[in-house]
Amino acid sequence: MRELQDAARRGAAYAAAIGERRVAPSAEAVAGLRELEQPLPEAGLSAAEVLEELDRLGSPATVAATGPRYFGFVTGGVLPAALAADWLLASWGQNAALEVMSPVAVKLDDLALRWVAEALHLPAAGGAFVTGATMASFTGLAAAREHLLEQQGWQASSQGLFGAPPIDVVVGEEVHVSMCKALSLLGLGKDRVIPVATDGHGRMRADAFPKLGRPAIVCLQAGNVNTGAFDPAAEIIPRAKEAGAWVHVDGAFGLWAAASPRQAHLMEGFELADSWTTDAHKWLNAGYDCGIALLRDAAPLRRALDSPAAYLHEGELREPMHYTPESSRRARGIPVWAALRSLGRQGLAELVDRCCRHAVLFAERLRTAGFEVLNDVVLNQVMVAFGPPEVTRRVIAGVQQEGTCWAGGTQWQGRAAMRISVSSWATTTEDVHRSADAIVRVARQMLDGKS
Ligand SMILES: *Cc1c(COP(=O)(O)O)cnc(C)c1O
Repeated sequence: MRELQDAARRGAAYAAAIGERRVAPSAEAVAGLRELEQPLPEAGLSAAEVLEELDRLGSPATVAATGPRYFGFVTGGVLPAALAADWLLASWGQNAALEVMSPVAVKLDDLALRWVAEALHLPAAGGAFVTGATMASFTGLAAAREHLLEQQGWQASSQGLFGAPPIDVVVGEEVHVSMCKALSLLGLGKDRVIPVATDGHGRMRADAFPKLGRPAIVCLQAGNVNTGAFDPAAEIIPRAKEAGAWVHVDGAFGLWAAASPRQAHLMEGFELADSWTTDAHKWLNAGYDCGIALLRDAAPLRRALDSPAAYLHEGELREPMHYTPESSRRARGIPVWAALRSLGRQGLAELVDRCCRHAVLFAERLRTAGFEVLNDVVLNQVMVAFGPPEVTRRVIAGVQQEGTCWAGGTQWQGRAAMRISVSSWATTTEDVHRSADAIVRVARQMLDGKS
């Protein structure tokens, strides 16, 4: 199949050149997408022509998010082993819903889940691969809802929520929006939560933690999306458990701190929770899309998602579709398995440590240049202000426009800031210096009024 060789050649060329292209696409490249705007064609093209058109118009209008100088949001790159495994997986075209549909997909789904739990030192007996952290939290909270209401003699999955006993939901004031989305989808309501005050780092204040009634879900954060800070789990979780609460942890990127002996102290106490959310497409660098829900006990999840049907034969193994909101889905466990198989424990710890060191280096470079770093750089996140809000916002836009690197903006406790998230396996120390040079250059030009 020549098309596949052609695709491999184009993909490899793209990956090889990623370090030297602009990180944000040029305005011309984005404008070029207009050429794709056509009515649904009457007659089709050959596969080769389709691919040529996609590469010619599409590739230049991508963001170089897998390159070494992308520091936006919390975006991982993609490890060569994960990317290559994903290519092979795409050619297999497997459905990971049931063992009978793909023995290898289910085998590696299972194994990868176990490896993730082991790498993160979490006592998880089960879980699920889903699209991202949002759905992972949805999944963990669905199990929480089922379990807590069962204890009250109510089955949420069959009886619904109308007339059910109420569940209190406790979150930090700095809760990630994805948790709110998951709560609203589950009928728990994003605005009926009990918010707990946070400190200057975005950590839940243990002294402000409320006395819990039952039943309750407590949502903690391991890794604030702006500061990288961790809620004081060792103080809060024992209190929550004593009150019979279910504790869920959003650790979309922060859970990976546990994989490094140097950073693992940040995760102290989080192993006491009932369910955990993380992403493989962030710090593990397994590529999009891949979120992971981990559960101490998978039985409530199974009951929450129970969907028996006569034709859905059950195999010997754990059937993934009974633990995920989806039925048909791609075999996300496979790129995760490939990433962990290629890194090993050591490689994973080194990846986490390297990103943390690079974050510290960014902070030093920008501080030395006279700019204000707003957070304690405890992990891989750096926030920097360049002066008043409008100046900071102009610097961010200027850096994105300049193209050496890409960092986004945020608002932190009333201040505008640039967010630098170092999450890619591909970033080298030289990339950090090159990016810091570009940021400082753009900022000085703005401050000197030359731009
Ligand atoms: C990125 C992130 C999420 C959402 O993750 P998705 O994979 O985009 O759904 C949730 N929580 C935190 C802390 C994050 O950093």
